[in-house]
Amino acid sequence: MSLRIADETPLAPLTTLGIGGPARHFVTADDEPTLVAALEWARDRGLPVYLLGGGSNVVVGDDGVDGLVVHMAPRGIRFRREGDFTCLTAGAGETWDPLVTEAVRRGEAGVECLAGIPGSVGATPVQNVGAYGQEAADTVLTVRVLDTATLRTTDLPSAACGFGYRDSVLRREPGRMVVLAVTFALTPGGGPKVEYDELRGELGWSEVDAPAVPPSLDEVREAVLRLRRRKSMLLDPADENHRSAGSFFTNPVVATAAAARLKERLRAEGVPGAESMPAHAAGSGLVKLSAAWLIERAGIARGYRQGRVGVSTRHVLALVNLGGATAAELMTLAAYVRGSVHDRFGISLDMEPVCWGCPKVW
Ligand SMILES: Cc1cc2nc3c(=O)[nH]c(=O)nc-3n(C[C@H](O)[C@H](O)[C@H](O)COP(=O)(O)OP(=O)(O)OC[C@H]3O[C@@H](n4cnc5c(N)ncnc54)[C@H](O)[C@@H]3O)c2cc1C
Repeated sequence: MSLRIADETPLAPLTTLGIGGPARHFVTADDEPTLVAALEWARDRGLPVYLLGGGSNVVVGDDGVDGLVVHMAPRGIRFRREGDFTCLTAGAGETWDPLVTEAVRRGEAGVECLAGIPGSVGATPVQNVGAYGQEAADTVLTVRVLDTATLRTTDLPSAACGFGYRDSVLRREPGRMVVLAVTFALTPGGGPKVEYDELRGELGWSEVDAPAVPPSLDEVREAVLRLRRRKSMLLDPADENHRSAGSFFTNPVVATAAAARLKERLRAEGVPGAESMPAHAAGSGLVKLSAAWLIERAGIARGYRQGRVGVSTRHVLALVNLGGATAAELMTLAAYVRGSVHDRFGISLDMEPVCWGCPKVW
């Protein structure tokens, strides 16, 4: 264990958005003793601690972060059979996508639709990452965490993680628990999950029929990657939209009755597509609307630009640093998009990425 704290470390290159100022102090924690030493160091100085994985879901403010940023890098991957399941345990610092590739290669089902999501294993339970009908919560068995108050480690069972749509206790109480490792329960020889309409379409399934021969895990993984590439939702430096944090807004969850009233109003106003306004069941009396659908109908198109920031040319939910942008510019654009949706539909969009010292613009 060695504690090497650096000062004034630029954070922009460590995030996928590529914006924001430096960390006043920065350390990489490869193991638990280094993490504990770093937390004690910050505590002795009364400094707040910020946990960084792959930086794909963080907006750093232009003045940077006045505290200690701990880059979480514990490694290690282990597959072991337990009864009907394969337990896959990976260190928080492992990169998520290669782990999915390895699970699929071994014929382990449960994470194939989550291929291509950027970032680290440690962050996957934080916002319960999800895509194409699958989410981390479907397979997370336990999350090994270090409690920053007691500096003790514990294995949180999935039920104690409070998973919800892009949510968990880890997200609701930032900095309280540090993820050291995650164990997923995968199904050896299991079939892929193909429930999402867009994924079914990509695999050539008709509206009602599944093919006689189901696709392999790898065919599903490849289909997901094709869909993601078309939306610039893969990290590809050659893609003009690559400096983003993925979806900037979550899909709003509203009362079923409110969604029905909105649909009726839009139909009466003759809004094109009102008839097929997306609304998916999201628990008792609730539905999840599509933030992208609302943004587009609020008059914001793909490729919309405000100086050095813009809306992705391939996906209206992603806000993009077009080069040299500031956090202030990005947040001004975000406020404009959010305000447009609110003015048009009376619905408030929530931001998906985490803000570290970025300007409050709403
Ligand atoms: C192109 C693109 C596409 C994306 N597509 C999706 C998608 O389809 N679905 C989806 O859900 N997300 C998506 N995202 C968002 C992002 O990839 C995920 O949220 C990812 O899990 C973030 O991982 P990270 O390691 O980069 O986390 P970071 O951005 O580094 O951190 C995110 C949050 O997690 C916390 N955190 C990080 N590591 C730890 C740890 N070890 N312990 C405790 N807290 C920690 C941070 O403090 C921060 O609050 C996308 C992002 C991009 C850029």
